[in-house]
Amino acid sequence: MSLGLSRLDLGSAALDLIYPPHCQGCGAFHEDTDAAIDGKPKARSWLCHHCQTELWPCEDPCCQRCGEPFLPTSTPDFSCQTCAGRHFAFDYAVAPYQSRGVMRELIHRFKYQRQLYLRPLLGKLLAEIVQRRRLQEDLQPGWLAIPVPLHPRRFREREFNQALELCRELKRRCGATILDALRRTRYTSSQTRFRRSQRMANLRGAFVTRRRLGKRLPGKTVALVDDVFTTGSTANECAQVLRHAGAKKVVVITLARG
Ligand SMILES: [Zn+2]
Ligand SMILES: [Zn+2]
Repeated sequence: MSLGLSRLDLGSAALDLIYPPHCQGCGAFHEDTDAAIDGKPKARSWLCHHCQTELWPCEDPCCQRCGEPFLPTSTPDFSCQTCAGRHFAFDYAVAPYQSRGVMRELIHRFKYQRQLYLRPLLGKLLAEIVQRRRLQEDLQPGWLAIPVPLHPRRFREREFNQALELCRELKRRCGATILDALRRTRYTSSQTRFRRSQRMANLRGAFVTRRRLGKRLPGKTVALVDDVFTTGSTANECAQVLRHAGAKKVVVITLARG
């Protein structure tokens, strides 16, 4: 297992140094325009122009709690309908992109088809969110990135945890410290089929802190990291456990907003 992963890691690290000749979204050959700044490939130039237009950023105004993008007519300090009357254990959730179009497909290939070479691209796109002012203010140097854990059985099936892989990118690009402080104690079937209330019931008590690592949480602002934020049920359960262990503030960072 560890051997397999380190090989995958090496592969993705090497790929990051080489400008990919094909668009990582559709596979088309890159035209050589607009490809690099100072010889370094730009994040989005890993995608062709067409695929770039198929990325849907979560631009303000967004819901200040869950990050749901609003219609342009909404006011920026407003909570969305989903959040109204709901208490989340995390402070707020942010994502750079919506889970649609190319982003949805990239995440699917990364997660379910084990295309780990997409990690650097997804890492670059995820790192964009850390530049936002709110996170710049909340995340101090050496900030803790905590991956949403997989159940050990799921980990054996998938052979990697996509959330931990994204944390590795945040460490490399944004100076995060990875704290794999949570453990998933219950194997749950795929959440996507369930309604919100069912998801919440299904997840209750499914996470605990790892005893030793949990001791590093009191008084800290932490970022909980996952690939997609959908109803917020998973993030909420994890945040509850982190708060219980003493975390002062929990922000949720995901690549995409479902
Ligand atoms: Zn493309
Ligand atoms: Zn909301």
